[in-house]
Amino acid sequence: MSELKQSRPKGTQDFVPPDSERRRQVEAAFRHLAACYGYREIITPTFEHTAVFVKSSGEGSDVVTKEMYSFKDRAERDLTLRPEGTPGVVRAALENRLRLPCRLYYVGPFFRYGRPQKGRFREFGQVGVEALGEASPLVDAEIIYFGADFFRRLGISDCTVQVNSIGCRTCRPAYRETLRKSLFDQKERLCADCLVRLERNPLRVFDCKVETCRQAVQDAPTPRQHLCADCERHHEQVLSALTRRGLRHAANDRLVRGLDYYNRTTFEYLSTSLGAQDSLGGGGRYDYLVEDFGGPPTPGVGVAIGLERTLLAAPVAPAPARRHLAFVIWLTEAERAAAQELADRLRTDGIAAQVDYDARKVKGQFRSADAAEATCCIIIGPDELAKSVYSLKDLATGEQREVASDVLVEAVRALFRD
Ligand SMILES: [Zn+2]
Ligand SMILES: [Zn+2]
Repeated sequence: MSELKQSRPKGTQDFVPPDSERRRQVEAAFRHLAACYGYREIITPTFEHTAVFVKSSGEGSDVVTKEMYSFKDRAERDLTLRPEGTPGVVRAALENRLRLPCRLYYVGPFFRYGRPQKGRFREFGQVGVEALGEASPLVDAEIIYFGADFFRRLGISDCTVQVNSIGCRTCRPAYRETLRKSLFDQKERLCADCLVRLERNPLRVFDCKVETCRQAVQDAPTPRQHLCADCERHHEQVLSALTRRGLRHAANDRLVRGLDYYNRTTFEYLSTSLGAQDSLGGGGRYDYLVEDFGGPPTPGVGVAIGLERTLLAAPVAPAPARRHLAFVIWLTEAERAAAQELADRLRTDGIAAQVDYDARKVKGQFRSADAAEATCCIIIGPDELAKSVYSLKDLATGEQREVASDVLVEAVRALFRD
C-alpha cells in the first residue's frame, strides 16, 4: 500500500465495524436504562457560545482555562465545542421553556484539549442524565444508583462509588475562607496555578495533580467538616438511601469535581480494570446553575459517564446484535436487472439485501458477499428466471437449495433467525 496522505488528528478515534456497532450497543443500553428511570432524550448543539461554559463551569476551572476548543466564527462570535453536557442542557431547557420538573438524557461527542492517554481522547463519547427541578436527596441517591446500575448491567463488577458533600450558599463562603487561610499558610507548597486558584476559588486546589499541592490539601480542612445543618441532613439522607439500596459506597472528603457549579452532593465512579484506578464518570447536584442562566430558582442533579473508559472497563464488551444480509447473485447480464428488482423487493420486506453490480464474474460476486459478511446468497440464473425459482445458499453451512419465488422471503427470514 502506498503511504497515506492523511491521518486522523491526535486524540481522535475511528470506529470501524464491528467496534462501531459495539459502541452503539452500549449507547443503546444506556438509552434503554435512562428511559427506564423516566428520562427523555435531549439533543443540543455540539458547540455553544463560549459564555455558556465559562459562566457555569467557572473561569478558574481547568476545563475552561486549559481544555476548551474555542474559536471565533466568520462573524467574530466566540464559540466553543462543548467540553461537557450539563451547561448546554440547562441552557436548552430554559430556552425551550421545558415544564419542570423534567428528566433529560443525552448521548454524544464532547471535546477537550487534554493529554491523550489510555481511554482519554480529545473527542470523546459521553452519556448522561440531568434531573431538573428535583430537590430531594433521594434523587441524588437514585442518580448515583442509576450509574452503578448501568455499569453492573455491562458486567463491570469492580466499580466503586465515592461520595462527598461540598456544602451550599449558606455554609460554603465561611468554609472557603477557612480553606483559603489554611492553604495560604502553606503557600510555599502550592504551584503557580494554585496560587491563582487560591485567589479565585480555593476549592479548585483540590483538583491539582501536583504532589506538593496534594499534600497541602491533605492538611487542609475539608468541606465535609464545615457543612451547615441542612447540608448535613441532606448528605446523611443520600448515604442512607444508598445503603438501603445495598450500593457500596465510600466517603471521599476531598472529592470536589472540577466544576464550579456543583453544590452539596458530588460523586465519582472508579474502576481498577483500566490499570490504575481511574474514573468512569461522576456528577453532582447543581442547585444554582439554572439561576445562573437567568432562570427561576431550580434545583438540579446529574451524572455523566465516559463511553471510551466504560468500553475499556467492560470485561466482555457487549457483542453487536447479529447482523444479517442477503446477497443477490446474477449469473449473466440478462439477470442483473432481476437481481436489482429482487433486492428492492427484499428491502421492502425489511430484509437487508445487496447486489454487486460491478463484478464481471460470479466468483467475484461471491467474494463480495464474503467481504460483506452476508448470511446467504440468492442466485438468479437463466433457468431460475424461467422457472420463477431461486437458489438459496446458506453461507454458514454451504447448503444450497431451490426455493419458489412466493416463499423466498420466508426462507430468507428463517436463515436470519439467530
Ligand atoms: Zn450548607
Ligand atoms: Zn497546584
